[in-house]
Amino acid sequence: MAPSSLELSTLGHRIRHHRTAHGYTLDELGGIVGVAGSQLSLIENGKREPKLSLLQAIAHATGTDVTDLLSAEPPNRRAALELELERAQASPVFRRMGVEPVRVTKTMSDETIESILGLHRELLRREREAIATPEEARRANTELRLRMRERGNYLGDIEKLAEKQLKAAGHVSGALTHRTVSIMASQLGFELLYVNDLPHSARSVTDLENGRIYLPPASIPGGHGLRSMALQAMAHRLLGHTPPTDYADFLQQRLEINYYAACCLMPETASVAFLTQAKKDRNLAVEDFRDAFGVTHEAAGMRMTNLLTEHFGIKLHFLRVDGTGAISRVYENDELPLPMDVTGAVEGQVVCRSFAARSAFGQQNRTTEHYQYTDTPAGTFWCSSQTGSTAEGEFSITVGVPFDDARWWRGRETQKRAASTCPDESCCRRPDSALTSRWEGKAWPSARVHMQMFTPLPRGAFPGVDDGEVYTFLERHAAR
Ligand SMILES: [Zn+2]
Repeated sequence: MAPSSLELSTLGHRIRHHRTAHGYTLDELGGIVGVAGSQLSLIENGKREPKLSLLQAIAHATGTDVTDLLSAEPPNRRAALELELERAQASPVFRRMGVEPVRVTKTMSDETIESILGLHRELLRREREAIATPEEARRANTELRLRMRERGNYLGDIEKLAEKQLKAAGHVSGALTHRTVSIMASQLGFELLYVNDLPHSARSVTDLENGRIYLPPASIPGGHGLRSMALQAMAHRLLGHTPPTDYADFLQQRLEINYYAACCLMPETASVAFLTQAKKDRNLAVEDFRDAFGVTHEAAGMRMTNLLTEHFGIKLHFLRVDGTGAISRVYENDELPLPMDVTGAVEGQVVCRSFAARSAFGQQNRTTEHYQYTDTPAGTFWCSSQTGSTAEGEFSITVGVPFDDARWWRGRETQKRAASTCPDESCCRRPDSALTSRWEGKAWPSARVHMQMFTPLPRGAFPGVDDGEVYTFLERHAAR
């Protein structure tokens, strides 16, 4: 392989270093080794590759050996600075800007080079910071979803860990209480503290030095989320997480802590026993599972994706979509045709108007589940949806299975049927031609801006969190 220009530059610097150390001029050393001084200059500047015989002659004349000349180490500080500048100016990030590179001269001071290098280092740092673009984040998210799909959304090690921790805290059956969660925390050496002044960017903060987990006030509505948050905070410790190195790592950790919390709230053994009975009675229902363990509909539906394939061989899908039909959380291993962008990402994509996930919004009775069969190009699916609303608007939670597995579920007798040919655009994306010819060019809607699905990594050690805010918060509390 031909040496890179950088390797030739390093070699040139090393030759120059040894030549000047011996007090030779270019012409003097050239005379000894049998080449013109100008030739030697080209070699020292990394512009020409020397023959091995010439290298041997130079090594001999300067009292060193060829191995030393070929070392990748810059021979001195000045050479190191010049080489780093050369490398920085050759980088695509710099070249993209179209700025003329600086030509280093002998009279240029080290300080000047240092200052230019400082700018380059900052430029690179900013570039790296911006690297988790929404698109990259979406790719990482898609890869993770596909990996989990391969394993039926099941993580056996975390299941076992959760059962062990629950047992140690004396949990027997039923819904996990706040009290048990705090015992679990204390067994890990942590005290749970509910505070009003958590940093805006953090859901919880763990003080490793003083053994405290800070959570939002216990009195907030929907407080059952607190058990989950406390469990997730503990999970980072139990699973030996270190600060994430990139967005994919961050997502993986997020998935694992969520998984751990779900395993504690709906332990595998008890959940499988419950679901086994329901399946036997042909009465599987997300709402029953939810109520038996005192969790949210979303948590119960998602938990089914962890257990139904692994323990019952049932393939299924889970969808959380907002009022506009955009997917905010999804799992699928039953081939349900989901909308997808070019990167393969499904989050943020709008599901078919005919899906139960969307038709459920039009239902009068929203307290119970809404059942529907949907014919799609990939077969018929039976789905159960429930709607809810938050400050951000409406959403629906859907769990569904292929037609053959509908027989285990309550609501299988529904007469409601719909057909979808999505992703064919004529299904529901394109207005019909009569309406188009009536209104084309005569309408001017103003678009609602969609909530950003993924934001780039902000600066700081922990993605999504303002370190300064977190540290200030910890200072304030640790003093109490
Ligand atoms: Zn459609």
